[in-house]
This record gives sequence, C-alpha cells and structure tokens, in this order.
Amino acid sequence: MKLHEYEAKRIFNENGIPIPKGIVTKTKLEDIEGPVVIKAQVLVGGRGKAGGILFADTLNEANSKIESLIGKEVKGEHVESLLIEEKIKILKEYYVGVVVDRNEKNNVVIFSTEGGVDIEEIARTSPEKIIKYPVEAGSEFLPYNARNMLKKAGLSSEEIPKVADIICKVYSAFKKMDGVLAEVNPLVITSEGKILAADAVLNVDDDAYFKHSYMEFEEFKKQEKSEFAYVELDGDIAVIGNGAGLTLASMDVVKEFGGNPACFLDIGGGATREIVKSALLKATARNSVKGAFINILGGITRCDEVSKGIVDVLKEKPELKFAVRMMGTNEKEGREILTKNNVSYENSMEDAAKALTKIINN
Ligand code: GDP
Ligand code: MN
Repeated sequence: MKLHEYEAKRIFNENGIPIPKGIVTKTKLEDIEGPVVIKAQVLVGGRGKAGGILFADTLNEANSKIESLIGKEVKGEHVESLLIEEKIKILKEYYVGVVVDRNEKNNVVIFSTEGGVDIEEIARTSPEKIIKYPVEAGSEFLPYNARNMLKKAGLSSEEIPKVADIICKVYSAFKKMDGVLAEVNPLVITSEGKILAADAVLNVDDDAYFKHSYMEFEEFKKQEKSEFAYVELDGDIAVIGNGAGLTLASMDVVKEFGGNPACFLDIGGGATREIVKSALLKATARNSVKGAFINILGGITRCDEVSKGIVDVLKEKPELKFAVRMMGTNEKEGREILTKNNVSYENSMEDAAKALTKIINN
C-alpha cells in the first residue's frame, strides 16, 4: 500500500527527519507566510514534470493555482487534496532510498548526489553515481555504513555526518513501518545549510497491517470500504469470479477466445445478492465495457444469491451482455432464476467465454 506524501512526511518527521512546514488542504487558503509550493497528493512519481507541483509567491496566486489543481488529474490520478508547503531555497538535491530486494532477500539502501530528477534515468545514464548498500535480513544498518556510502559518493567531510544521520533515520522508519519502499527525493540542503526532506515516499507491506495502525492512512481506508478485489484493465469484457485463482483463469479463457478483459474482479467468498450487484455495477460502469463474464464456483458463495444479483443489474442495465458459468452450492436454484429472466448460462467456462466473446466481437 502506498502512503501519500504528507503521510510519509509525518512518519519521517516522527523519526527525527526535518521536513518543510506545511498543511494539507482541499480548498483555498486564508493566508500564507511567504512563497509556497503547492503539491498534488497523488500516488505517482514524477508529479513535478506532470504539472502536479506548482509554486506561488502571493495568496492570490496560491489560491488560483489551488483551484486549478483540485479535481484535476495528474498522470491519471484524481487530485483530492494538496500539500501546501513553505518554498525552500534549494542548494543541493540528494536521493535517499531503501527498497526490499526480493531476489537477494535483503534490503538495499541507495544514495545518489543526483537527486531531484528521475533516479531511473540516472541509473541508466550514470550508474556510477548511484551508491547501493545491501543490508542482510537480521542485520542493522549502522551510521558507519551510511558514512562509507557518502564517502564513496564524494560528499564533503562536513556534510557526511548530517546526511548519514538522515539516511539512518529513513532506514529506521522503513523498518519500523514494515516498508517495502522508502524514498526521500530530493533530500535538500538549503541555501542556509539546513537539511530537509522535500519529498517523501513510503510504501508499506499490506500483510503487516495487524502490527500497525495503517487505518489512519487514506489508501487503507479506501481498501477497507471495498468488499472485493478490483483491478481495472483496458478491454471490453468485465471478468468476475469468486476467488483470485478462478478469476485469473477466467481472464485467460476470455483472452484465449479472442476477448479482452476490462477488469479483474474477485467477489470473494460468501458474496450476497447486494455485493454481487454492486460488484457488477462497478465492473460495468465504464462505457467501454460491453459485457461481463461471470464465473462462480459455489461453496460458501451461493449460486442463487449470485443469480439474484445478476438479475438486479440487468433490470438497471438491460443492454449488457452476460455469460454465466456457475456450479456448486444452490446451482439448480441459481440456474432457474437465470432461465426465468432470460439469462443464458453455460456448463463450462470455455463455452461461456466462447459465447460471450462471439457476441461482443460481432
Ligand atoms: P515529484 O516530481 O513527484 O518527485 O515531486 P517533488 O516533491 O520531488 O518535487 C519535484 C521537484 O520540485 C523537486 O525535485 C524540486 O526540484 C522542486 N521542488 C519541490 N519543492 C520545492 C521547494 O520547496 N522549493 C524549490 N525551489 N523547489 C522545490
Ligand atoms: Mn520527488
């Protein structure tokens, strides 16, 4: 799960990392103290280049830029809130990162003097400017490890202890939060010689939620509200199943017969009529979606509940094409409901996918 910049900054700050003064807002401001940076709180990198970071010197200018950014999209993400910060005078921009390396089964601390811009670009053009330090699972990342990295990077002996201290704090915040990625890019040295995290990224491991109060984070709240796992894709056939494996297999079958999935939607176990209905409405909400392939293996999920949900949706959207394959608990009742409402079903998932792709591709 990704945290917003303002959330990541708060956590970094609680771990002793200095951050610029700022507030989060969804509306215009009454007052500002000097020049500000207006930052779209969206969960993508490279906001600066995409118009998601704006600057203003006066209250009027700030408010007109706030209005221009709220409700807009930055790299396909809807801007709901903004972080307004004091504008800092930047002398140098460094990159600090910590990432889980799943192949090596360790964490890697990364530092570069070429912060601010695309770190991927630096990795391609001048890989020697990126210093990496792998930390084995169970080992500590110690101040002298950070100092060695910074020596290699060519920092002055005056700067090394200050920056090393921040790197250690980023690492400890990452560990404490069960992070999978932490980044401060840029870590700024201001023209007054202060050190500040001007940007912050923190992605945490969803599976560690029971150890933390992730509930306070925006994305976690959104996930909690949704009863089903949903991934949007760009085809025209919504693919709905119960269980992630079955839903993935359903996508393969749709592809096999020349169709293109519009989404992956797993309604989970024991979905009620209401959940099936809201899942189907979500999966077919976009105009580009022409039909839905529903593949249900009844266990705790009852086929009759699913059929009722399908019929409810067809009452609202009679133009939709459905292909249903269902078997298991209350299969007979489920099929009867579909038949009564003129919804056809097939006995195998192949037949259902074939039937639907034929209708939709014609
Ligand atoms: P990103 O593009 O999503 O990574 O957003 P950042 O928060 O990193 O901002 C992009 C760039 O805007 C930074 O690398 C800085 O060069 C610039 N920037 C951000 N905040 C400030 C600030 O307070 N003062 C100045 N002068 N530049 C800033
Ligand atoms: Mn950045």
